[in-house]
Amino acid sequence: MEILENYSLKNHNTFGIDAKADYYVSIRNEDEIEELINTEVFSKNKFFILGGGSNILFAEAFKGLIIDINIRGIRIIESHDDYVIVEVGAGEFWNDFVTLCLNNKFYGLENLALIPGKVGAAPVQNIGAYGIEQKDFFYSLSGLNIESKFFVTLNNDDCIFNYRNSIFKNELKNKFIISYVRYKLSKTEIINLSYKELSQEIIKFNIEQPDARIIYDTVKRLRTNKLPDYRLMGNAGSFFKNPIISEDKFSKLKNIYPEIKGFTQPGKKVKISAGWLIEQCEWKGKRIGDSGVSEKHALILVNYGNANGREILELSMQIKQTVMEKFDLELENEVLIIQ
Ligand SMILES: Cc1cc2nc3c(=O)[nH]c(=O)nc-3n(C[C@H](O)[C@H](O)[C@H](O)COP(=O)(O)OP(=O)(O)OC[C@H]3O[C@@H](n4cnc5c(N)ncnc54)[C@H](O)[C@@H]3O)c2cc1C
Repeated sequence: MEILENYSLKNHNTFGIDAKADYYVSIRNEDEIEELINTEVFSKNKFFILGGGSNILFAEAFKGLIIDINIRGIRIIESHDDYVIVEVGAGEFWNDFVTLCLNNKFYGLENLALIPGKVGAAPVQNIGAYGIEQKDFFYSLSGLNIESKFFVTLNNDDCIFNYRNSIFKNELKNKFIISYVRYKLSKTEIINLSYKELSQEIIKFNIEQPDARIIYDTVKRLRTNKLPDYRLMGNAGSFFKNPIISEDKFSKLKNIYPEIKGFTQPGKKVKISAGWLIEQCEWKGKRIGDSGVSEKHALILVNYGNANGREILELSMQIKQTVMEKFDLELENEVLIIQ
């Protein structure tokens, strides 16, 4: 384990922001986590636990220690007639893991294909797409509780998963380093076509009985067509969460904007599209210097090349302000701002 100083994070965040960190360390196993927390650099500095950097924005230089989790390895820890439990290192790339599971006929995660980032961040954000969330297949995880300095295992209920949320964004925020995650996957195919855009795409291609491979390929195609490739144009996916509002507020909006779509949620709530709101404020495709809103998707802020984190952050604040003025709604960031 080597702690590096004055380290550029440009290759460690999908926005491609060239922010510097005072200190940087790459962690390859649990022993190195223990070693790290006993160092002076760790105890004397603020720190940030980094995965693939695909859900964060470095708004400025990081005055502290970046802990880059690179714990690798995938293995079956239990195999039963109808399911397996697979354990995966937090530093494995999520999409590699999804692909490997499908290739080995362990089913369930296909709808989550092509989500950037590493496995360790999947429970933090409770990643979701095309009708499922990782919590639907999550079994348990292990990691170090930084306060107690013990490695512990947390199960599905312990993690308090919610829409793009979990205990790791609340009570355990900055207090837990995830080292391994386990998923319970089916040995028989699970076909989830609850997401309209996905089922429509399957119908379009006249596929009567889609299998898991078709779902995986279709999700990849949809995502590739819809989302800008961060390797070509820096971005962190959806910058804002889709607002969940009361039915009352929704019907008021519907009176003014009859074309607004709502998706019913538990507790008399309605989820609406943040992308639609932003589009109505005419932000889609707009560019200010090297920061902008994607032409493909209004929810995605992009770095055209040399934007710095502050510029992207300022753009996001302008968008929030216009959405507030037009709809009286406060957009919440999905991307974590690091400053
Ligand atoms: C083009 C694009 C499309 C996307 N599409 C989706 C989508 O469809 N659905 C979706 O949910 N997300 C999506 N995202 C967001 C992002 O891919 C996910 O949130 C992903 O899980 C982030 O992983 P990461 O490894 O890059 O995490 P990072 O951005 O590095 O970190 C995210 C958070 O997790 C924490 N963290 C990371 N690793 C650990 C660890 N080992 N222990 C403790 N905490 C940790 C970090 O401290 C931080 O709080 C998209 C992003 C992009 C760029």
